[in-house]
Amino acid sequence: MQWNLCGHDLAIDFLREHTKPEKMRQAYLITGPDGVGRKSLALAFVKAICCQKPPAPGEFCNDCTTCRQIDAKVFSDLTIIEQEDGKEIKIDQIREMQKTLTLSPFQAPRRFVLIPNFQRATAGAANALLKSLEEPPPRAVLLLTADARESLLETIASRCEQVRLGPLTVKATQNVLSDQFHLTEDQALHLAHLTSGRIGASLRYHDDPQVVEAHNDILVELEDQLEKTYRARLQYVDELMRQKISPREQAARVIPVWLGFWRDCLISVAQANIPLVNVEHREWIDKTASRMTLEQIQKVLLAHEHALEQLESYANARLVLENLLLMPPRLP
Ligand SMILES: [Zn+2]
Repeated sequence: MQWNLCGHDLAIDFLREHTKPEKMRQAYLITGPDGVGRKSLALAFVKAICCQKPPAPGEFCNDCTTCRQIDAKVFSDLTIIEQEDGKEIKIDQIREMQKTLTLSPFQAPRRFVLIPNFQRATAGAANALLKSLEEPPPRAVLLLTADARESLLETIASRCEQVRLGPLTVKATQNVLSDQFHLTEDQALHLAHLTSGRIGASLRYHDDPQVVEAHNDILVELEDQLEKTYRARLQYVDELMRQKISPREQAARVIPVWLGFWRDCLISVAQANIPLVNVEHREWIDKTASRMTLEQIQKVLLAHEHALEQLESYANARLVLENLLLMPPRLP
């Protein structure tokens, strides 16, 4: 029972079923917000198919040479197209990958190619991939991840079996972080709130000071925006849209941070005895909370929660960000 390290029960049941040769498809698309566990789930799927000593059908031991090689990303039948942060996936990378895809598997029952964040593929790369989907090489399995199905060409998405991952509950995230990654309960709870239930994102916060810094930058910018006019706030969203990541990815980056802030404001105004997520910003949180009513804050918070759940189906991420940022009153 090693799948549970991913936390997503429904998706796991689905993929475990697909480890059976008669069920296995040639392409899978795992969608969900960044840091939610898409890649970990894809790797678990590969392990469940290739493990040398599966403790039960559809399970993996996490201990044999194969499981270890997959974890270390050095397994001969698994190619991973990695990208640098925010960089596009280029047509050359897809062409290179296609050469390996046609080779017979070396030791596993299938040859796997994992391409994370396929929403970053250029039009040329996406079209090149389409060829592999239309004429799939035998005994090859393609695993794509993306922030949303809508970010990909429909001709690509429709040829994949889709597995959708949403954020976990705070409690589930806390459990995974403390049980599997040995964080203290307090740390786990803090990170679970901070990332709104994304395990990968929690681990990045835990390990990478730059991620913490980026989080703080978003908060400081929000503080600044709340003092400004609605027109200035719209200009700020405009600036966010001009950065090099896609509008949907920008929304996925910013909204969880905003949500954490409003949750803290609600705790402050309700004088609840619950630790703040952004405890180092307590002064500003208390000040903001004291200038709004409980109902106002609740309304803003609910809108953020709703926006986060709907992330994948956004038709227009810019509008969503504008709506959220225009909700709170001006607090000069
Ligand atoms: Zn194994």
